[in-house]
Amino acid sequence: MSRRQCNRDEASIANSLLASLPRAEYRRLLAGLDLVTLKFGEVLHEPGAPIRYVYFPIDRVIALLTTVPGHQALKIGLIGHEGMVGSPLALGVRSSPRRALVQGTGTAMRMKSSLFRKEIRGSKPLQQAVYRFKHALIGQIAQSAACKQFHSVKARLARYLLMTGDRARSKEFRLTHEFLARMLGVRRAGVTIAAGALEKRKLIKCGRGRITILDRQRLGAASCECYQIIKRIYDDSPRAKG
Ligand SMILES: [Zn+2]
Repeated sequence: MSRRQCNRDEASIANSLLASLPRAEYRRLLAGLDLVTLKFGEVLHEPGAPIRYVYFPIDRVIALLTTVPGHQALKIGLIGHEGMVGSPLALGVRSSPRRALVQGTGTAMRMKSSLFRKEIRGSKPLQQAVYRFKHALIGQIAQSAACKQFHSVKARLARYLLMTGDRARSKEFRLTHEFLARMLGVRRAGVTIAAGALEKRKLIKCGRGRITILDRQRLGAASCECYQIIKRIYDDSPRAKG
């Protein structure tokens, strides 16, 4: 087995959706997957434009943004190693109403959308895995809408950092206050105050465009309950095992 092949095998397993598939399904899909590097700020698909590739993230987070003319795009969901980008294709829809924006630099497995459409038509385990993920993602988006309405910027920021950490499998991220303000749909000053409060309690550390989670447990206590509600939605969507 070549080194490239070996790296690709290991990387695929690092995506939990792919890892949940029966081994035979997984081996077959592998032939159509490429390991790619995602760059901070890269757009994987734009609203209404054809989805050219699907992505299975490994160690970075992709934000789903909804756009409203005359306003900044608003983050409505986060996708990491537990899922995929381009899931509308599984429902027979060839474009997404949302923008998919890469947060941080990392890696993902990528497949051409034409091949993915073919694969999902012929694979019940892949269909089930993608539908389960899609169900959880819809739950996340719905809970995030309630969260924005009812909870403080500080609690939402704590939840956002925890969710980013879970999906990127990391405690440190490249995130500026300006970027966070866009993601949370608030003014930058609001993020600075909220982050300052979390930093003062030594829950996080900010500097040079990076944020580090110092105390995950206490950051969880500072988050609103939406973090646990969303986590349960994903935990209750059991994966296929083969
Ligand atoms: Zn909340």
